[in-house]
Amino acid sequence: MTGWDSELDRVLGAKTAKALNGAFGMTTVGDLLRHYPRRYAERGELTPIGGLETGEHATVLARVERVSKRRMRSRKGTILQARITDGTRSMSCTFFNQAWRERELLPGRRGMFAGKVTAYRSELQLAHPEYQLFTEDEDSDEQGAAREFAGALIPVYPASQGVPSWSLARCVDQVLSGWDGVVDPLPESLRERIDALGLDEALRRIHQPEDLAQVERAKHRLKWDEALGVQLSLAQSREQRGTRPAPACPRRQDGLGAAFEADLPFTLTAGQLEVGERIAEDLAHEHPMNRLVQGEVGSGKTVVALRAMLQVIDSGRQAAMLAPTEVLAAQHARSLRELLGEFAGAGELGASDRATKVTLLTGSLSAAQRKQALLDVASGAAGVVVGTHALIQDGVSFADLGMVVVDEQHRFGVEQRDALRVRAGERSCPHLLVMTATPIPRTVAMTVFGDLRTSALRELPNGRSPISTTVVPTAEKPAWLERAWQRVREEVDAGHQVYVVCSRVGDESNSGSREETTSGEDGEQRSPVAVLELAEELRGGPLEGLRIGALHGRLASEDKDSVMRSFAAAEIDVLVATTVVEVGVDVPNATMMVIMDADRFGTSQLHQLRGRVGRGASPGLCLLVSEAVSQTPARNRLEAVASTTDGFELARLDLQQRREGDVLGAAQSGKKSTLRVLSLVHDEELIARARAEAEEFVREDPELNSYPGLAAMVADLVAEERADFLEKA
Ligand code: ADP
Ligand code: MG
Repeated sequence: MTGWDSELDRVLGAKTAKALNGAFGMTTVGDLLRHYPRRYAERGELTPIGGLETGEHATVLARVERVSKRRMRSRKGTILQARITDGTRSMSCTFFNQAWRERELLPGRRGMFAGKVTAYRSELQLAHPEYQLFTEDEDSDEQGAAREFAGALIPVYPASQGVPSWSLARCVDQVLSGWDGVVDPLPESLRERIDALGLDEALRRIHQPEDLAQVERAKHRLKWDEALGVQLSLAQSREQRGTRPAPACPRRQDGLGAAFEADLPFTLTAGQLEVGERIAEDLAHEHPMNRLVQGEVGSGKTVVALRAMLQVIDSGRQAAMLAPTEVLAAQHARSLRELLGEFAGAGELGASDRATKVTLLTGSLSAAQRKQALLDVASGAAGVVVGTHALIQDGVSFADLGMVVVDEQHRFGVEQRDALRVRAGERSCPHLLVMTATPIPRTVAMTVFGDLRTSALRELPNGRSPISTTVVPTAEKPAWLERAWQRVREEVDAGHQVYVVCSRVGDESNSGSREETTSGEDGEQRSPVAVLELAEELRGGPLEGLRIGALHGRLASEDKDSVMRSFAAAEIDVLVATTVVEVGVDVPNATMMVIMDADRFGTSQLHQLRGRVGRGASPGLCLLVSEAVSQTPARNRLEAVASTTDGFELARLDLQQRREGDVLGAAQSGKKSTLRVLSLVHDEELIARARAEAEEFVREDPELNSYPGLAAMVADLVAEERADFLEKA
């Protein structure tokens, strides 16, 4: 008797269940059945080796080409090396002290090989892979190892060290043979409308299809489950939100907002005015605002947010602004105070009598400062409160919180947004303004941000300068790196400043902490360039005589702050930093950025990073330093970033390059994605239909009482998200 909730150890035995739990966090039969094959291989087919990427755990169908054995130089023992081929390219599999494998890895035999792909001297390797060989006669499926591969299509599962794809197939087979079936959560009428298989059949077909047409039918159904679950939960979220009013904050002609605008040193762009108009309108009503503003780096989102905050303050309430890090929070507080000028000095001599107060509340305040800050927040003296997300989680009490602004919220999911609204006050729900510099494709907007209305700032303020980006391919053109440092020197000589970004901090070699490395034969390692080491090297070499600072997440907050302040005051010429400079940091005199090991960063992240330069009147220059070889996916990605500065275009590329199902997970917080078959790249139409269906269900029956299956789908989803959120917090 096997059902959806049956424990895996009961069905498969303790040992197997433990392995599945360890590798994938699976505990129930449902978890296993929701682990779908990534693709299907045909029996005769071989996996194109050229398409593998280093770092991925791959399952490769290949043919043994030759095997060689030798003694290790540095240690005792033997290395057995098998070359496997797809007929065009080959790669090597390395086994330590397993010489006996020579007897079965015979040239010409075919099988599946699974392991982590690494590169050594620009050659691909699988280090001690697991494998399963097909029987000699491929067409006989009578016995032995061939049994799992009996079907016409071989499912290839996302696998992991210790649990190869074929073990997963065997487990699924065992489960399905004693399967009692599940009650279908989708109402029959809906299934007919969308022409979907029943859940049982879909599950069988996706795991053990006879042909690819069956796979497609199964996926269609399973995609609907995912799309509808998410959209129902969003529809409920939107519905519920309308039931608790927000404070109406109509615009005033004689308030702080108007005075501030009259004093602005620049003219707002058409986009800023238009988005500002929308927001002002939203804030005037009791229906809580839920708006996402997308705008390129440098498009001037801060002033848009500030105008909104002033409108809220003008009706006697407070606004909170949340940033992802303390450095950014401090920076926001600073730039808000700067923008506000005399209007920020409430209680101080010479301040405008309309002035308000900007209070920074972060973990790095002294006890006395914190006490004062909390007092200002609770008494209402602080009109604007700036902090990290902890501001909401720690239960800080506001006198009257009218609006929350969340800046650069990649890691801020629906669940967190809801937590924030609930937390902020029982009586009313604050307005919410979310700002992002990462342009969001429509499917992502409908899914991850489906509870928000979106608007975009598409133009940059006048006077912004273009950024040109160039790849520095150190594998092919090592001399270019020297030229790059020369270029840095020229930039500094011209009176400008430079960022150098590294993917790691450094100096942890003795502390035992492990970083991602590229490993070669016999464990030889190359780590990415690190901040501390590079800063040292530059001081003593190519950039000798320049003032070089280092900034990274391991510094204490006040140190980070003071480094940032020195850089802003041009007391530092070259700032070597980790991605703490990624978002929001604004030093107009910085005109150049060198990004080391650029292939380690995502497309959007690179775009964000380079947005730090070219913020003043002089043009910006960004150099992407990378060892990635021409024509590899990593290198192509860098070339794409170099080829355009259009963030929307890059967001589209980024989405296409990610693995299916990764998008929601990455855009939200967690590692476990709720999307498995649904593709935010390809399923735009299905998602839009699911959204419409969900609206209809929730309008008719807000709690979904008459659709227990649907209600359970939503509950599962929410539970999963919440677990994720708690894990993060
Ligand atoms: P981001 O959208 O990246 O957060 P900011 O809000 O930090 O951009 O704005 C970048 C810079 O542009 C700031 O120095 C800001 O004062 C300035 N700025 C904003 N709006 C305008 C405008 N309309 N005209 C000129 N400068 C502007
Ligand atoms: Mg900003």
